[in-house]
Amino acid sequence: MAQQHGPYALTTTDGAARLGTLTTLHGTVPTPTFMAVGTHGAVRACLPSEVQATGVDIVLANTYHLACRPGVEHIEESGGLHAFMGWNGPILTDSGGYQALSLSHLSKITDKGIVFVSPYDGSKLFLAPEDAVNLQERYGSDIIMCLDHPALFGSDDSAILDTMHRTHAWAERSIAAHRKEAGLLFGIVQGGYAVRTRQESAAALAALPFDGLAIGGLSVGEPHDLMISLTRAVTDVIPSTTVRYFMGLGSDRELLALVAQGVDMFDCVAPTRLARHGVAYTPHGTIALKRAQFRTDHTPLVEGCPCPACTTFSRSYLRHLFNVQDILAHRLLSLHNLTHLATLMRDARTAIREHRFAAFHEERLALLDEGTTETAGEVGTHA
Ligand SMILES: [Zn+2]
Repeated sequence: MAQQHGPYALTTTDGAARLGTLTTLHGTVPTPTFMAVGTHGAVRACLPSEVQATGVDIVLANTYHLACRPGVEHIEESGGLHAFMGWNGPILTDSGGYQALSLSHLSKITDKGIVFVSPYDGSKLFLAPEDAVNLQERYGSDIIMCLDHPALFGSDDSAILDTMHRTHAWAERSIAAHRKEAGLLFGIVQGGYAVRTRQESAAALAALPFDGLAIGGLSVGEPHDLMISLTRAVTDVIPSTTVRYFMGLGSDRELLALVAQGVDMFDCVAPTRLARHGVAYTPHGTIALKRAQFRTDHTPLVEGCPCPACTTFSRSYLRHLFNVQDILAHRLLSLHNLTHLATLMRDARTAIREHRFAAFHEERLALLDEGTTETAGEVGTHA
């Protein structure tokens, strides 16, 4: 049943879950896939070779933050973002639309584009949709994201329609600005928190010649069930030959729920951000290593995990590294958490290939239900 029309090849489906591959200028990636976030051009504290060894295939960086520091000219002079950051695999760059929301006290949005005030030095940066595409092309990104305008959760209907229509107009301008020989161009579906507007946005963008579509403006505080149903509403409208990327999601439970709804790509700051707070992913949920019970726990973090934290050290030692604030702890837990999510996606792909994804999903939920999920408080999920 293999289907291909563009860079994404759909190998097989199992229910709504999909197994496929996405071909980029820097390699072909099996999907579903989890991407590591390196906002400023680095997955914090980790060498590119170490990130690659976790099983993560794509790294994500941020257009707006890189434009502030070190600046696009600097990256161009270094031979592009791949050479600059020493990562030879695919790079996806987020456009900056989400930063307009997260840094809303520092930005102003009109139909022309977004004016950002740098949180670093107060300087102003104007980003039109064309500028966002151009910057990402100059970085040498493999996957270029359109500038979009997400609506805040809780916005009224007229605000949601305004942001959606602006996102659609910017999508057309982005396509016109995109050079065909550059990286893939992805549109971003908005449409707020109603099925009707979500599907209207998905249909409008699916009619444009994008290489893939992202689902933006979700995982921003809406209830879990609403997030799932709105995602399904979107994946029902997007053609099967179009790759689907859900922006900013990184817990086992949510990733599996959305793979089951036909999503192919994910990213999240949580695995590395939680790592810096001493929180580790396990098949039984996340655990906080600061807990006293781990002081004398000489077992590996997760039995059978191939990462350096688990193959070399005990829970007791990792807890000790946090207590003495050794940065090795951040690095080891980041590598472990990325390995955990990359392995989860690999196992999901195997289950879809063998047409037993529903059973695999149930097994993983049963394991999660046995444990407790601990976090370091509100750390957010978006890059
Ligand atoms: Zn591990």
